Amino acid sequence: MKCLICLQAETVDRSISVILTRGEFRLTVSGVPARVCPHCGDGYVEEVVARKLLSLAERESALGVLESALEYEGDMLG
Ligand SMILES: [Zn+2]
Repeated sequence: MKCLICLQAETVDRSISVILTRGEFRLTVSGVPARVCPHCGDGYVEEVVARKLLSLAERESALGVLESALEYEGDMLG
């Protein structure tokens, strides 16, 4: 798929780290599957992945910690 930002290059599948914040809470998720543009460096996460990341942030922030780090797993939230 062509990069939607620069329209200069085809995006490639890569794993990236995503940082989610919610108030004071901060969650780092590594190994998130994404499409990254080799030209401008912009990365896209698929909607289903984005939804999982949000659920994860909600679950982790409910634990009462301020900072958390996880490895992304595709089947972690059903
Ligand atoms: Zn681009």
